[in-house]
Amino acid sequence: MANVKLKHPYSVRFYLGNEIAPKGYAWIFPKTDDIAEVGIGVRGAVAKEYLDRFVKEHQDELGNAKVIDYRGAPVPIGGLISQAVQDNLILVGDAAGTVIPFTGAGIHSSLAAGLVAGEVAADSVNRGDQSASFLSAFYERYRNPWGERIAKSLKAMRLFERLSDDDLNSLAEALSANDVLDIANGLDVVKVAKKLMSHPRLALKVGMALLQISST
Ligand SMILES: Cc1cc2nc3c(=O)[nH]c(=O)nc-3n(C[C@H](O)[C@H](O)[C@H](O)COP(=O)(O)OP(=O)(O)OC[C@H]3O[C@@H](n4cnc5c(N)ncnc54)[C@H](O)[C@@H]3O)c2cc1C
Repeated sequence: MANVKLKHPYSVRFYLGNEIAPKGYAWIFPKTDDIAEVGIGVRGAVAKEYLDRFVKEHQDELGNAKVIDYRGAPVPIGGLISQAVQDNLILVGDAAGTVIPFTGAGIHSSLAAGLVAGEVAADSVNRGDQSASFLSAFYERYRNPWGERIAKSLKAMRLFERLSDDDLNSLAEALSANDVLDIANGLDVVKVAKKLMSHPRLALKVGMALLQISST
């Protein structure tokens, strides 16, 4: 959108809540002083309806803004598919589910998958073997750290998608911005779980479950 009047023109902002974006989030990413990407990701709901409502509710910032470009697409957030490798073929990117499920961010993790796939493909040419069995080295090389991060992020997402807005508000008070990034990206889940273990309500509901995620 162009001609935006952002209250926070130098920070990327995310908006969470079942009323705002069911099982997802809305965002405002400033690009210049008066241009920003305004978007939304939802599940089980019509994205455009929620996006229109979001824009309406941010009249003060977006009221006089104009849409200058738009796009939308499904983002696969079910984790790495089980058959990304076949004879003569390695799938990467959205086609293979190399997306961090909780955030729906697939650029970095897909570039990393492309790099690993390229290395495995080069080895396969040198060895003259393009069988699925040889190309399966992709899974081993991609697992650490990306495959593991995707798997942990998926489990954390499944846990958090069941939380009410009240729970999310309590979490926002209990956690720091870095804690949220750690959980969403499948990084230091244990640290966050330990922090929540002292919380009267979230210890049982979230802390214990996070500890289980990190131990599997
Ligand atoms: C609205 C939205 C916002 C997003 N925001 C972020 C974000 O902020 N950060 C982040 O990390 N991820 C984000 N993502 C996810 C990210 O864009 C994808 O995970 C990532 O682009 C996947 O890369 P890819 O190469 O697999 O697929 P793509 O980037 O979709 O590339 C596939 C390419 O193949 C082309 N193509 C398709 N069919 C054919 C055909 N038959 N012949 C030739 N070419 C073809 C397409 O035109 C496209 O250029 C967002 C996704 C959406 C939809």
